[in-house]
Amino acid sequence: MTQFADASELELFRDNVKRYVDEQIVPNYEAWEKAEIVPREVWNQLGEQGFLAVDIPEEYGGFGSSFEFSMVVAEEFCRANLGGLGGSMMVHSDICAHYILNNGSEEQKQKYLPKMVTGECIGAIAMTEPGAGSDLQGVRTTAKKDGDEYVINGSKTFITNGQHCDVIILVTKTNLDVPGAKGTTLFLVDANAPGVTRGRNLEKIGLHASDTSELFFEDVRVHESAILGKLDAGFAVLMGELQRERLALAIGAVAASEGCLAFTKDYVNERQAFGAPIAKLQNTKFKMAEMATEVRVHRAFVDECLRNFMTGDLDVATVSMAKLSCTEMQGRVADGCLQLHGGYGYMQEYGVSRAFVDARIQRIYGGTSEIMKELISRSVLS
Ligand SMILES: Cc1cc2nc3c(=O)[nH]c(=O)nc-3n(C[C@H](O)[C@H](O)[C@H](O)COP(=O)(O)OP(=O)(O)OC[C@H]3O[C@@H](n4cnc5c(N)ncnc54)[C@H](O)[C@@H]3O)c2cc1C
Repeated sequence: MTQFADASELELFRDNVKRYVDEQIVPNYEAWEKAEIVPREVWNQLGEQGFLAVDIPEEYGGFGSSFEFSMVVAEEFCRANLGGLGGSMMVHSDICAHYILNNGSEEQKQKYLPKMVTGECIGAIAMTEPGAGSDLQGVRTTAKKDGDEYVINGSKTFITNGQHCDVIILVTKTNLDVPGAKGTTLFLVDANAPGVTRGRNLEKIGLHASDTSELFFEDVRVHESAILGKLDAGFAVLMGELQRERLALAIGAVAASEGCLAFTKDYVNERQAFGAPIAKLQNTKFKMAEMATEVRVHRAFVDECLRNFMTGDLDVATVSMAKLSCTEMQGRVADGCLQLHGGYGYMQEYGVSRAFVDARIQRIYGGTSEIMKELISRSVLS
């Protein structure tokens, strides 16, 4: 039977994360946004605090906590308007570490997971290519067998943690003679292996503190023991693991919206127009009421999804609804809150401008809103 975390333990952990975020992350964050990357040692510090891959079992160096604890970390970074670093951490902790835990050999788990918990090893997942995003069946990166090794050639783009990563979960084609999803294999590739080149840190409109890169693979040789999961069976792994990613994105979207509403409440209570705080204007009251209602409804939905995920009862259509609806809602809330800030909302020194640009990507990565609708419609119409 699934063991849910004790509420008081979760709250204690949440307080620790919040305190660390307020004291150690927020004061430095603007500088990291400007640098468009966080310093490497920040990852080690996050590891020392016990905030990375917290739900990895103790036998692999983790804390053996439940997924709820990892979502507390994600929520508090998103709530504090730290979407860039929060997103990078989620890719590392809630995607890469779990791909390895759920699909890796014992040797792979022992090799990578303890160092991912401490922050010594940063993970990235490389699916997207210049010619293959939503349609992952179009991947063109190849891995060709040569003795007990594979030789990898190809390129990836938009890869989160692309500059900092130490290990890359790489999606390749190992068999070009079979159609569609068959013939896809995942490899664990050392980011510093000969033949792996990192492109420049891509310039984005938001999520500045998160490094995002192209990655190039030229005759990269990996031993066959680097296959993650089974040969030619990578697509099933991808489909299985996408659910956690989408749930985490939905949960992050709700937390970011809660944070955005909280600081907008402070702003509208302070900002004066026509001799009174703008919070007194009917439009402000109605907008805040509408947004608070939307956020509350989505909070109830993601909490239910989280419980169902933990008991193994979260289906593809429902998690797709959560990802679709929560990220679309985040976009509306960020836009509505920016509007209430007036011209100041358009200035970078006001947090709402960052909330606005950081929210935009949420509807695109992890499967676009349109792809979510495709997935939902299959269940609705079947
Ligand atoms: C900041 C950032 C970080 C990212 N991090 C990673 C990462 O770590 N690893 C990684 O592998 N990728 C990453 N990505 C890539 C991301 O997952 C893709 O951008 C996304 O999946 C969309 O793919 P695409 O950009 O090729 O768009 P396309 O697939 O070309 O889509 C273009 C438009 O067509 C629509 N469309 C496509 N197919 C359909 C369909 N069947 N029905 C209806 N509409 C459709 C899309 O919804 C979209 O509106 C990241 C992207 C960004 C911007």
